[in-house]
Amino acid sequence: MHANEPGPRIAIVGGGIGGLAAAAFLHRAGLTATVHEQASALTEVGAGLVLAPNAGRLLRRLGVLGRVTRRAVPLDWGWEFRRWQDGRVLSVEKLKGACERLYGERTYTVHRADLLDAVKSAVPGDRIRLGAKCTAIEPGRDSVLLRFADGSWTEADVVVGADGVHSVVRGAVAEAEPPEYSGLCAFRAIVPAEAVPAFALRRAQTLWLGPGRHFVHYPIADGRAVNVFAAAPAGDFTEESWSAKATIEEFHAEFAGWDARVTDLITAGGTPGRWALLDRAPLPCWSRGRVSLLGDAAHPMFPFFAQGAAQSLEDAAVLARCLADSPDAPDRALKRYEAARIARTTRLQQISHGRRDTNHQPDGPGQRARDEVLAAADPLVANGWIYGHEAEEVPVP
Ligand SMILES: Cc1cc2nc3c(=O)[nH]c(=O)nc-3n(C[C@H](O)[C@H](O)[C@H](O)COP(=O)(O)OP(=O)(O)OC[C@H]3O[C@@H](n4cnc5c(N)ncnc54)[C@H](O)[C@@H]3O)c2cc1C
Repeated sequence: MHANEPGPRIAIVGGGIGGLAAAAFLHRAGLTATVHEQASALTEVGAGLVLAPNAGRLLRRLGVLGRVTRRAVPLDWGWEFRRWQDGRVLSVEKLKGACERLYGERTYTVHRADLLDAVKSAVPGDRIRLGAKCTAIEPGRDSVLLRFADGSWTEADVVVGADGVHSVVRGAVAEAEPPEYSGLCAFRAIVPAEAVPAFALRRAQTLWLGPGRHFVHYPIADGRAVNVFAAAPAGDFTEESWSAKATIEEFHAEFAGWDARVTDLITAGGTPGRWALLDRAPLPCWSRGRVSLLGDAAHPMFPFFAQGAAQSLEDAAVLARCLADSPDAPDRALKRYEAARIARTTRLQQISHGRRDTNHQPDGPGQRARDEVLAAADPLVANGWIYGHEAEEVPVP
């Protein structure tokens, strides 16, 4: 297929948001890449995602932001922290107006499926190979062999592992260790707008902080539903799947005694999903020779800064820049890509991890100190290094 095309043969393992974004940015840079996705169809679950300006600007340049935001909700308020017991506002950032002024783009809540669809639309259809589960990566001197579960194989000049937290490709660049259980799980629900009070339909990302757990909600799908996400102790629950379920009683038990606006949302949400959150320490490097990683395969992070998908988009943009700069020296291009990205993604992994402790403080001196810090902070400005980052313009070493 496409045997006479110029440029390196680039194989991307994984057709999630990161893998498709990599293919899209490479295509825009004039390079061709093939995405090998294990699933037989490209689908994303119907959960919500916060799209910060650093991600929005990249999607705009890719020409697909309009497609993402057709059913999105532009947020007027973000990081609205409230106290678990009585809903007292601890801190809130005003996004409307300020976000465009500071970072040139709004913050949206979007449906994951809409984001995946939009990114996919920027990839030529014949560049996506479905039902292709990669089982092994065998680097050679001048190329890399990829083996697949159906017995097929292919050869590439560059391999990018965008195969998520359980990455197979990761074993070719680092110790092949499985991720650890974090001891936390996420309860999830999508609640129809008719079932929720007006409070939950405000264009705000609301986070309720309490001892050992926190509870997040925001409107999605043009305001026709509310996305609920809550982090709580996992106990012995270890299933990591968008389709695993909990009972509504289990969800209620975790948030017993919380403000009625929280417990009412739990009731309205019906049977929730439940997802064990995995953990991995940051990698010291993620490129070796002609093989590299991207997105959750390289730097999985707790979703407490809502930056995982955004970072995979940034990775994709920088990877394309580096490979386009030196298509004939892929190993050098991949090292430059890693050098341009790793400090930033490591910092985001670390601060996302740190939010587990700050968000979950038991009532007492630590919680009061945290609340004072929150009250004094202006997250929109303090997080400028996240939202103002221009992945397509920062100097690449
Ligand atoms: C509950 C939750 C809430 C989140 N909220 C946000 C948010 O608000 N904002 C945000 O920016 N991020 C958020 N994230 C993070 C975000 O979802 C991820 O960081 C992002 O989806 C990572 O994309 P990825 O493409 O790297 O990996 P994945 O989405 O995991 O995609 C990996 C792909 O690789 C395929 N694959 C795996 N193994 C193989 C193989 N061997 N061969 C071929 N294909 C393979 C898989 O089928 C999949 O399609 C959240 C995450 C969670 C869990």
